[in-house]
Amino acid sequence: MDKKDIVSYSYEELTEEIKQIGEKAFRARQIYSWLHEKLADSFDEMTNLSKNLRERLASEYEICKVSLAARQISNVDPTEKFLFELSDGNMIESVLMKYNYGNSVCISSQAGCRMGCRFCASTIDGLERNLSPSEMLRQIYKIQKITGERVSNVVVMGTGEPLDNYDNFVKFIHMLSDEYGLHISQRNITASTCGIVPNIKRLAKEGLQITLALSLHGSNQEKRRKLMPVANKYELSEVLNACDYYFEKTGRRVTFEYSLVKDVNDSAEDIRELTGIMKKRNCHLNVIPVNPIKERDFQKPDNKNALDFKNKLEKNGINVTIRRERGSDIDGACGQLRRRYASAKKEN
Ligand code: SAH
Repeated sequence: MDKKDIVSYSYEELTEEIKQIGEKAFRARQIYSWLHEKLADSFDEMTNLSKNLRERLASEYEICKVSLAARQISNVDPTEKFLFELSDGNMIESVLMKYNYGNSVCISSQAGCRMGCRFCASTIDGLERNLSPSEMLRQIYKIQKITGERVSNVVVMGTGEPLDNYDNFVKFIHMLSDEYGLHISQRNITASTCGIVPNIKRLAKEGLQITLALSLHGSNQEKRRKLMPVANKYELSEVLNACDYYFEKTGRRVTFEYSLVKDVNDSAEDIRELTGIMKKRNCHLNVIPVNPIKERDFQKPDNKNALDFKNKLEKNGINVTIRRERGSDIDGACGQLRRRYASAKKEN
């Protein structure tokens, strides 16, 4: 029989489960604290439980495996990339970025991705499988343990589409912000989506306070469709309506992400159309000069052109920043995370 994934049990579920196996409810509090505050990797560590109980737990439950396979530290900025191995041999990546306001971890939500965005390395081998809440949580737990650094911010912008793994993703957010866990404020959590309209609307109604980032990348339906296959399914107008709904329901300003590609989406017309989209919304635009990947010939605009693009939008009254590139020497930058360890190894 497969062991049960104990790290994916919410506090309420664990309390119920522990009562079911005939233990007192306060044991659930202790076990939850070992798993989500003290970040235990084994039941042996849970020294305030009897040996009997620890053995029983170990025979029926597992603490899901997220084990360090490689760690790369950037030479250009305070960024580290972690390659983790899961119990079934799948490899996933997470990135730690240190800022003066705190430490931010970028996690993966799926092994691989099926969204097919043209400029993104994470989708090249397709989707392998969804990650469980425990596998999302333990990327953060592991990084905190390995580095001894407290994580204050989390972005779900690694490999995968969080809204294509909806239930696990929402549970992960609840558990990450739970007062009995790491207790990270939902306002310090951002999730990025390529724009799965029904799930943006669902998310708006969950009562969460996380920031939604929408991958826009094209200033009209036609352009967006060329870069992002998901746009064949959901029209830009529907996506924007869903974002407006998110803002209306949560009061949280939506961030739009725009990967700037030389001669593809950096024209004066793009600026004009983008201004039209942004102007009537209370939102923020994050321009990411595209990080080239070897499978495609998308080119990064030079710094001057990217700055020009930003300045022109600013002149039009748009709230815009250029995202500072992080960890490019370790392929930790946006869209550079890839599932295949073999190819990652070859490249470094
Ligand atoms: N599936 C989510 C999270 C993906 S990655 C989403 O689509 O939003 C986070 C951001 O990096 C997305 O906006 C994504 O479009 C962008 N991105 C992907 N590849 C990139 C690349 N090569 N250069 C710059 N940004 C990229």
